[in-house]
Amino acid sequence: MAEAPEPREHAESAHLSAIAEEGTRDADEVERHPCPRCAVAPGSPCRSRSGAVAGTYHTGRFTKIPRLAKLLRVITPADRGPGPAVASRHTAARTAA
Ligand SMILES: [Zn+2]
Repeated sequence: MAEAPEPREHAESAHLSAIAEEGTRDADEVERHPCPRCAVAPGSPCRSRSGAVAGTYHTGRFTKIPRLAKLLRVITPADRGPGPAVASRHTAARTAA
């Protein structure tokens, strides 16, 4: 009657392959909220003061999410660009080139 629970080794290797995806998932979650620091709208990555996409999200933005609040930083995925609201002239020029 006492059947041993299934070993969870496979769960661990699945976790390893999920690490690469995790950053993107965290970023998606952070971007659901506006940033209190740089005031970007939901759906856009944080901006540095110069208006460029920041390498990490501002702390005040991701600490609102309980799952991410304990992290020291959340990296902005490399494929994130500034939202359409702030497509500036130099970005347009760079795309055209
Ligand atoms: Zn921000």
